[in-house]
Amino acid sequence: MRTSQLHGACAECWELIAARYPNYELVTPWSPSFVCQAEACIAQCCKRFSVSLGEREVERMQRVSGFTPLDFLEVVDGSPLTMPLAQPYLLARREGKCVLLGELHRCTQYEGRPDACRLYPHFVLFVEPETGKPTHADAEGMKCSLAAALQREAGPAPYVPLLIRHLECPGFTGPALGEAAWLALLAETARLQYADGGEGWD
Ligand code: SF4
Ligand code: SF4
Repeated sequence: MRTSQLHGACAECWELIAARYPNYELVTPWSPSFVCQAEACIAQCCKRFSVSLGEREVERMQRVSGFTPLDFLEVVDGSPLTMPLAQPYLLARREGKCVLLGELHRCTQYEGRPDACRLYPHFVLFVEPETGKPTHADAEGMKCSLAAALQREAGPAPYVPLLIRHLECPGFTGPALGEAAWLALLAETARLQYADGGEGWD
């Protein structure tokens, strides 16, 4: 798919579904780029949201930080709390914020932070172009749709990948993204959100 066609397809799909996502906005090549304003917003994302993570992310955090899982995960009866989800662990919270948030509103374990922290405030939705119905389960369809959007594969794709941003984050203050940065951000956000170490998303 040519990039100009992709812009058009994204705008049409977003028009179909935007009312369902009042806290988000479509990101286009003309959108301002993201520059974190943690001092200005006093790191609201690290205070407001619980962060879930999977085995691979727990291992990365251990490796980078030197911590044990009990140092950074929510714990019940001496063991990490697990939920019936693909990413079953939760970052520990203390006093209304992530336990890893440090002074000056900065992450103390930035290199090891979970994927959810790496992709925020961006997300990718894969939607059927005719209906606007989103999917998160059809990994092969999502991968081939992303490859088509990035012009790595020709041919029809079942979904349009929509790059969106959380409106409550005040960090959209940089210069306009431009097409190359927009495509790179789309690819990286989709990989962080869906790949979970799997192949075919690079
Ligand atoms: S990502 Fe957004 S909400 Fe989070 S600290 Fe940065 S500017 Fe604030
Ligand atoms: S790991 Fe770091 S970036 Fe993620 S919520 Fe905690 S303090 Fe914020």
